[in-house]
Amino acid sequence: MFECKDIAEEASNYLDGDLPLGKRIGLFLHIVICSCCREYLQQIKQTISTVATIKPQEQHSTDTQALAEKLRAISKGEP
Ligand SMILES: [Zn+2]
Repeated sequence: MFECKDIAEEASNYLDGDLPLGKRIGLFLHIVICSCCREYLQQIKQTISTVATIKPQEQHSTDTQALAEKLRAISKGEP
């Protein structure tokens, strides 16, 4: 049975579709019963789509540190 910490570990793989079917089903079943992890996955999804939007503007910049800071702020939900 999957626990919240497993969701945290596998979340990005789950969203990328990189998990074997058995694991996907296990995660899905946990998400169905656990609202915390549902919200967590939702946040990651939003972060990913935000990053996809930011990326083209950052193409000419080699300052990955600034991007990392930006991502940290986004994941914390800061403005
Ligand atoms: Zn959970």
